[in-house]
Amino acid sequence: MATRIGVDIGGTSVKAGRLHADGSIEPMEPMPTLLGRDPGDFLDRLARRIEELGAKQSVGIGVPGIFAPGTRTLAGNPNLKALTGIDLRTELGRRLGWDPSSIQLENDANVAALGEARLGAGREVGDLVMVTLGTGIGGGIVMDGKIVRGSLGRGAEIGHLVIHDRGPESVACGCGRYGCLESYASATATIRRASEQGLTTDLGGLADCARAGEGPERALLEAIGADLGRGLALVLVLLDLPTIVVGGGFGAALDTLLPGIRMGLAERDFAAREPRIVPARLGAEAGWIGAALLADS
Ligand SMILES: [Zn+2]
Repeated sequence: MATRIGVDIGGTSVKAGRLHADGSIEPMEPMPTLLGRDPGDFLDRLARRIEELGAKQSVGIGVPGIFAPGTRTLAGNPNLKALTGIDLRTELGRRLGWDPSSIQLENDANVAALGEARLGAGREVGDLVMVTLGTGIGGGIVMDGKIVRGSLGRGAEIGHLVIHDRGPESVACGCGRYGCLESYASATATIRRASEQGLTTDLGGLADCARAGEGPERALLEAIGADLGRGLALVLVLLDLPTIVVGGGFGAALDTLLPGIRMGLAERDFAAREPRIVPARLGAEAGWIGAALLADS
């Protein structure tokens, strides 16, 4: 296995690096995304970056958002609006002088899950479900060593599993529906819930208060954990995965969410499973590492 190149396109920066045959990694300095209305300049810079990495006719790329059915054309992402409707493989292939099929494109949460499964928190067990707690909740599932994409590449959108669809608890989600998991347990949702209770909206501070003792902060993070557990229970009932990996910026509060997650799982999972629940290990590098692994996934 030769050195492989992975790229992870984010709303703020593009992370990339080399994954060597012995499993060692070599991250590159992140490149600011700076995507204006015209994506041409961004695509030029991205192609140059791929060349600088020494990629030879093969690169894996993770990108946020979902693809139009049956294609690798982005159907839209609020953070990367200018890339909507663009066929990244064709655009990059033309700039690099490559066949577009040599460019592997995948949802960013899916590549992060693949990275963690092969070289991170799931290294010993392989199969896992990963949730990334950030602005929204990204989801990725790896089973039998492969990303679960579904027929149109829209599978594993765990953030949009509906956990409270009726009553006063029902909250509107950015997807246009009510009661989605990410409306209760993302970093954004946590800030909203903390502010509603008059608690600090600094997530690190909130977690520190919860660690320090009983109080409304601890109760809130337990309630948010329980919502996360309710959503994850749906995944486990369906797929019986042995490991849950929690990543993303707000994933740093996993220790304070854990008692709640266990409660939510116990409440909704008939089989009373006790999966391993572990923090992501590759941090912000998971995406590009997983992308580099796409060629054989
Ligand atoms: Zn939703």
